[in-house]
Amino acid sequence: MLEVENLQVVYGNSIEALRNASFQVGKGSITALLGSNGAGKSTILKSISGVLYPEDGKIRSGGLSFEGLDLTNLMPNEIVRLGIAHVPEGRRLFIELTVEENLIVGGYTRSRAENAATIEEIYTLFPRLKEKRSAVSGYLSGGEQQMVAIGRALMKRPRLLMLDEPSLGIAPIIVADIYQGIRELNSKLGLTVLLVEQDASLALKAAQYAYVMENGRVVLDGTPEALSQNEDVREFYLGVGERGDRRSMREVKHYRRRKRWLS
Ligand code: ATP
Repeated sequence: MLEVENLQVVYGNSIEALRNASFQVGKGSITALLGSNGAGKSTILKSISGVLYPEDGKIRSGGLSFEGLDLTNLMPNEIVRLGIAHVPEGRRLFIELTVEENLIVGGYTRSRAENAATIEEIYTLFPRLKEKRSAVSGYLSGGEQQMVAIGRALMKRPRLLMLDEPSLGIAPIIVADIYQGIRELNSKLGLTVLLVEQDASLALKAAQYAYVMENGRVVLDGTPEALSQNEDVREFYLGVGERGDRRSMREVKHYRRRKRWLS
């Protein structure tokens, strides 16, 4: 459904954030992009949704296509119209509006009846939002705000939903609800999901296929089963030592900076 081929992206003509990054997202799948801070994950999502230019970012070379259509020269609104929705890191809600008002804003291109039906589906997916439908969004917890952000993206009835770090800074109990919602969107409604996560164990539980990024490149890919068995993934991303004990990432980084896939 989505093909990213040898994508090179620079910010301000000098910082190379992506270097020949390539991967695919299959229709109906949950695909995860994993990697540590600065690996280039958010830049990939911004390239796909066409929002690099406010940050002086540019695609220098490579290809991006959605269902065979070239995305590289389209405007963000055209990309949204094709059925691609992007929930950025940090959520960016209208904090002074209520939950339901935020959802309605997300559906501005659709009719009142269509919006009402979609809002009900979102409330079924995230029952917490129904309880808080009239609450001002700025007063919600981080997890509830993340649900609103996902709901707002769903209002446009996308075919590809891109989520940037949906678990970031959110209490584990609510993260579980958010991930349950993501899985249901995929399994019950057939929505294709591209998931960016720093928390590899969460992402590998939800995804059917995953790519590992480092320094702007995709360095490894595979099914969650295969990646969970990979020693480097276990050590660097799942924080599990060779003896099976959990380690702190700081300790791991200190002792072994070089990874097998880079050597
Ligand atoms: P994080 O989880 O920290 O967001 P990431 O994997 O999403 O990490 P990106 O945010 O895509 O990584 O950043 C990739 C590289 O591009 C980093 O070196 C980062 O410093 C740089 N970068 C990102 N945004 C900008 C920008 N607006 N201007 C200049 N450099 C940037």
